[in-house]
Amino acid sequence: MPDKIVLLPDNIANQIAAGEVIQRPASAAKELLENAVDAGATEIKLIINDAGKSLLQVIDNGSGMSETDARMCFERHATSKIHTIEDLFHIRTMGFRGEALASIAAVAQVELKTKKNEEETGTYLEIENSVVKKQEPVAATVGTSIAMKNLFFNVPARRNFLKSNAAEMRHIVDEFTRVALSFPHIFFSLTSNGQQLFHLESGSLKQRIVQLLGSNYGAKLVTVKEETDYMNIYGFVGKPETAKKTRGDQYFFVNNRFIKSAYLNHALMNAYQEMIPGDSFPMYVLFIDLDPTQVDVNVHPTKQEIKFEDEKIVYAFVQAAVKHALAQFSVTPTLDFDLDPSIQQLSSIQQPFTDEKKAAATSTSIFKGFTQKHQAHFIEPSKKTELKHWKDFYDTGSQKPEIGSERQAEESLHTHYSPLTTHADAEITQLLNTYIITSSANGFILVHQHSAHERVLYEQLKAAAQGQPIATQRSMFPVTFELSPADAAVLEELMNDLQQLGYIIEPFGKNTFVVQGTPADLEQGNEKNIVDALLEQYKHFSNELKFSKREKLIRSLARQQAIKTGTRLTEREMRQLVKDLFACEQPNSTPEGNPTYLEFKQEQLDKLFRR
Ligand code: ADP
Ligand code: MG
Repeated sequence: MPDKIVLLPDNIANQIAAGEVIQRPASAAKELLENAVDAGATEIKLIINDAGKSLLQVIDNGSGMSETDARMCFERHATSKIHTIEDLFHIRTMGFRGEALASIAAVAQVELKTKKNEEETGTYLEIENSVVKKQEPVAATVGTSIAMKNLFFNVPARRNFLKSNAAEMRHIVDEFTRVALSFPHIFFSLTSNGQQLFHLESGSLKQRIVQLLGSNYGAKLVTVKEETDYMNIYGFVGKPETAKKTRGDQYFFVNNRFIKSAYLNHALMNAYQEMIPGDSFPMYVLFIDLDPTQVDVNVHPTKQEIKFEDEKIVYAFVQAAVKHALAQFSVTPTLDFDLDPSIQQLSSIQQPFTDEKKAAATSTSIFKGFTQKHQAHFIEPSKKTELKHWKDFYDTGSQKPEIGSERQAEESLHTHYSPLTTHADAEITQLLNTYIITSSANGFILVHQHSAHERVLYEQLKAAAQGQPIATQRSMFPVTFELSPADAAVLEELMNDLQQLGYIIEPFGKNTFVVQGTPADLEQGNEKNIVDALLEQYKHFSNELKFSKREKLIRSLARQQAIKTGTRLTEREMRQLVKDLFACEQPNSTPEGNPTYLEFKQEQLDKLFRR
């Protein structure tokens, strides 16, 4: 019998190893973007065709590579980032394993163009299946461009395993978002099939968050910033009203590396306890920096999971830092007093944090636990915040944090906070055909009729989509209409979900449809307009890759069916709307995060009038 063991050829060994690093186009996007960051680029462009299946290219203006390095970089374990095992514990770069480019070259056709600043000409290189096909000098600008074409062209099984373009694109946008968030001073763009989806000028972290996650966060971010000898935390968390029903905009970075940590997420959810409904998710973008020797980044090949040397400290620190940030913001829950400098002069706001309060705070356990030593939560007397409820935030005992108002804090997670008075006959008035004003337990509330109704409809539709379908009224005279081929394709895709939501629309030949029924409580008669408006709204959301088709549909319907501003309401309609609003799970904001109402508390009004 001959011997059986053979050494696998390099390209097959590389293909197998590549499986761990490059699972999908998004993994390549991550690796290439990180390489550009590591190369010191200030401008990084990601270009994609077919969700990265046919092309995924990163162009940077970083250091570039010499001719030899350009050739070397595709070798397995070729890296310029570590030299000894010790270096592993002082990693400051995103990559270090020297596996990414070798893996990409093993499973795709790669074109590299690169030039160093100090060199006359650059290098062009083509490689596929780990074999160099072409190498020649080339005129180039400083930096590197790597184009990955036809991913998995030589591993059909893996290619078939890829998901739809929409799904793969979502993964790419996720990776892009993570890298772009951690380096706000770097310009990034993302172009997909010739269309620029993101164009992110270099700027502050706050600007970057708003550019990436949506302008509705703009004024609703609370700064988190604490520094200790052991670790620092910096970033933003969303005000409680921006919490969403879906887990989405939640980002932890440790030493600038995006990580997933159920443990830290728990710390954060704890900090929000009683401020948001139990089943909703606050937004956060937090950067934790600590000595690299205190973190093991080596536990997972794609490096999204890490181990902390001392998890408990990190947990307590994150929780206390976020609580602290929210406590400062909670002084002005409904009106953003910070906007008006004259209000800062008010004596009650300037009131110093007294020694007595300080003494009480320092005796609590969390403060002693690690704060005292590292001075993380020392609150200077000069801080222009009232910190009326300061104590609750340091007290681990039974007291609940007061957010917004005493009433709100008293409400448990299960009964929803409502600022309404118990008198059903409280006066109610419409202003400007847009706002509803009525008294609340502690003052008055101003409700935006369109936003409020949008929230109400959104929750109703959401419930209908999951359970009992909405009742349909059959049209007596079914209307047919024709759409553009593009719109027809969209409508076709939505038909099943629409049925659940009370719309019976059927195809009727080439791009033509017939409306057989609409929701029973919707006015009959302008079916065609309803469908047009719906498609318009739906397209408005269609770039929001983070939403499912159904979510987009529900948001579109809610927005479109909500009472328009400028519509006169009867007293009964107003009362019904306000009642429905506060029966919502999340009455404070529209699905997009705009406020539905503002509460003006007497206490605050008195202050404004210096009473
Ligand atoms: P790692 O990033 O772990 O070192 P990679 O396979 O991603 O491994 O890259 C290998 C090497 O190629 C890097 O260490 C770096 O020296 C070089 N390199 C890769 N991409 C770039 C780039 N965009 N600009 C300059 N050098 C690069
Ligand atoms: Mg790398």
